Amino acid sequence: MRELDAVLARLRRDDDSIRADRADATADDEHDPEGSTLSGEWQRIDALRRATVAERTALTAALARLDAGTYGICARCGREIPPARLEIRPDAVTCVPCAA
Ligand SMILES: [Zn+2]
Repeated sequence: MRELDAVLARLRRDDDSIRADRADATADDEHDPEGSTLSGEWQRIDALRRATVAERTALTAALARLDAGTYGICARCGREIPPARLEIRPDAVTCVPCAA
């Protein structure tokens, strides 16, 4: 979790610095050849941040299930989720047949 928090903090800083760059570019009266590049960069970081937030949410939910003693139990059929699946998808909520 600490690693994810660090990633989120870093992404927020990147986001802030890009916003600052954009503010500078807007303050400049010259037309802005960097504008589209910055916009693309911002979108990339935003997508990355969303993915990280989603991953963090899934991991938080997995930890809650671990606490509740329901981790590794399929949320749909109540059967055990195969350890091999949990190895690939530690945040898996359902077994393979139920996920399909
Ligand atoms: Zn199931």
